Amino acid sequence: MKPRPGFPARLVPPSPAAQPKVVPRAAARPATPTGVGMESQAVRAAMVRKIQAQGVTHAGVLAALQAVERHRFVDTALVNQAYEDTSLPIGLGQTISKPGVVARMLELLCQGRSEKLGRVLEIGTGCGYQAALLSHVAREVYSIERLKGLHEKSRENLRWFRLSNLHLLFGDGMLGYPKGAPYAAIIAAAGGNDIPQAWIDQLAVGGRLVAPAVTSVGRQHLVVVDKTATGIVRTELEAVLFVPLKSGVA
Ligand code: SAH
Repeated sequence: MKPRPGFPARLVPPSPAAQPKVVPRAAARPATPTGVGMESQAVRAAMVRKIQAQGVTHAGVLAALQAVERHRFVDTALVNQAYEDTSLPIGLGQTISKPGVVARMLELLCQGRSEKLGRVLEIGTGCGYQAALLSHVAREVYSIERLKGLHEKSRENLRWFRLSNLHLLFGDGMLGYPKGAPYAAIIAAAGGNDIPQAWIDQLAVGGRLVAPAVTSVGRQHLVVVDKTATGIVRTELEAVLFVPLKSGVA
């Protein structure tokens, strides 16, 4: 049995500084700018239709794109571009990936299966948009970011969504996150010269990894790695343009 605290537990009233600050709701978040408020559902539906026209068919991925409000992840000045199929700056020289590319990668990750993915590792949280999408298509998500500023920004952006199955981590994702391994799926939003061995090691048998990496032709391509009972199968797909994968934290 835990000892009960002596009563009264606190004799001195807390100083004003220690009291929780009540922030009025309107001031807690910038007002939703015109064009993405009430209509944001319809604007997102139009984005989803464009992504479908590009060939993405996975129902779970399309539903996640419809559900997650991308405009909550970009700066107020860029909000009107939030539903265009374009990457946008998110600070510290990084970008939020194009929704079309994110959709393509998530569809690859789901391997055509309709059930939710198990535990997923994302390398490169950035602003947190893809992490939010992942939390809709997977049972549990670990997302790791090497830049402290962006790790904190994503935490701030994601608070509103209350995604209890999403865990944000600050660290060097090149090492993966062994504590959560093995993963049903691993996805990276930054591309290096190769796929780090740690990621392949932390992938479950039957699992799939999707990441940009520089291939033999000297360009970044989407690379799919399947871990099968009999070994590793690597497939190189279309050329892409992602920010570089870097080691260490900053
Ligand atoms: N999925 C993100 C995309 C962000 S861009 C989004 O939706 O916004 C890719 C991110 O990968 C950048 O924030 C960059 O800092 C991060 N990154 C690069 N190398 C990394 C590493 N070794 N570990 C963790 N994050 C890394």
